[in-house]
Amino acid sequence: MAVSTLNSDPPEAGGSSTVKGLKCRECGERYELAPEHVCGFCFGPLEIEYDYEVIGKTTSRELIESRAPNMWRYKEFLPLSGEATVGKQVGFTPLVRAENLGRELGLKELYIKNDAVNYPTLSFKDRVVAVALSKAREFGFKVAACASTGNLANSVAANAAEAGMPAVVFIPADLEQGKILGSLIYGARIVAIHGTYDEVNRLCSEIANKYPWAIVNVNIRPFYAEGSKAMAFETAEQLGWRVPKHTIVPMAGGSLITKYHKAYCEFQKLGLVDQTDFKVWGAQATGCNPITNAVKNDTDLIRPVKTPNTIAKSLAIGNPADGYYAFKVMKDTGGGGEDVTDEEIVDSMKLLARTEGIFTETAGGVTVGVLRKLLAQGRIPTDESIVLAITGNGLKTQEAIVGKVGEPEHINAKIEEFEALVGESGNPI
Ligand SMILES: *Cc1c(COP(=O)(O)O)cnc(C)c1O
Ligand SMILES: [Zn+2]
Repeated sequence: MAVSTLNSDPPEAGGSSTVKGLKCRECGERYELAPEHVCGFCFGPLEIEYDYEVIGKTTSRELIESRAPNMWRYKEFLPLSGEATVGKQVGFTPLVRAENLGRELGLKELYIKNDAVNYPTLSFKDRVVAVALSKAREFGFKVAACASTGNLANSVAANAAEAGMPAVVFIPADLEQGKILGSLIYGARIVAIHGTYDEVNRLCSEIANKYPWAIVNVNIRPFYAEGSKAMAFETAEQLGWRVPKHTIVPMAGGSLITKYHKAYCEFQKLGLVDQTDFKVWGAQATGCNPITNAVKNDTDLIRPVKTPNTIAKSLAIGNPADGYYAFKVMKDTGGGGEDVTDEEIVDSMKLLARTEGIFTETAGGVTVGVLRKLLAQGRIPTDESIVLAITGNGLKTQEAIVGKVGEPEHINAKIEEFEALVGESGNPI
């Protein structure tokens, strides 16, 4: 029995050969594949259940490597019934060996999984949207929607445009220009709510009960969330089929970090990588730190932050849907969590740009900043492998660095003026 969240005709249930159905994370109740996200018995969140025996018989490193370089090379681990129809080219972003940043921080083996250059909208959200909208079409939905802190808005608007689906995108009104314009350009209907993200999300839950829309992170959430696993699968494959000892992941609702963990476990379970110990670390901004605050206080009771106040707006979720599960992943792997101030965020954005030539958004500054903090606390050994999940692009959050990266030097187009600028030595550097 599944609880219906739709008033119109229920979309058809589907099932790929590797997917068994939906399962409640709390009470274990099973459901057919449907656009549902809450257990009808205990109100726990629903998750995709796979048939790992079937996956084990069909996948191998060689098969995966023979496929095109995008996230669908792991399609057996993703919950579509047929081939992807939205976001067919998403994923397989670079895993960069960060020699310069590593040297600066005294680290032997540091990598950056760079989703700041994910296709098409420059954040890891293109992965979740590719799965959510492909699945929404399998279910027969005609309209795409989302509640977003910015990057999801960009990705739903862009991918829906390409798929020819009308889209309605809900955002808090105070987002960065880059995130707002980067949604409007695709012709989606953008609804800016005067309130926090949590208020936007609450409204979207009500809308999901009334309108037959695929709200990717509400009624399609179990499918949406699985898309995040591809970032971790790629990390392990690009590392030479191995799980890094430490992975640092930025947290908003806390979904991505749990899926990094799930993906590593799935690869281990199927023998695609060795069974090595790994630790997962979560990163937030101090101005909105409900999950890291719980981890630091060693309590799984996530106290919501009522009025988030940070430049890391993409992470500013005061009441994180997956906070409890994120907490568990950090505890169970022996990792942990930390948060950093706005000043530390900007400083770390600058450090990453100066050392590696990577311009990340504020969320990336959070991740790099938390690595520095954990190193200062001596919690991550300097000779072990570390991967930073860099999830978004700095061009979208330019407000954060205005006035903090200097100014260009202005002259007229005259050689004398240039030489006056560089001085007697004639050396411009
Ligand atoms: C959404 C987002 C995250 C985290 O997402 P959750 O899965 O909700 O924790 C991290 N980084 C960026 C840039 C994001 O947009
Ligand atoms: Zn349940």
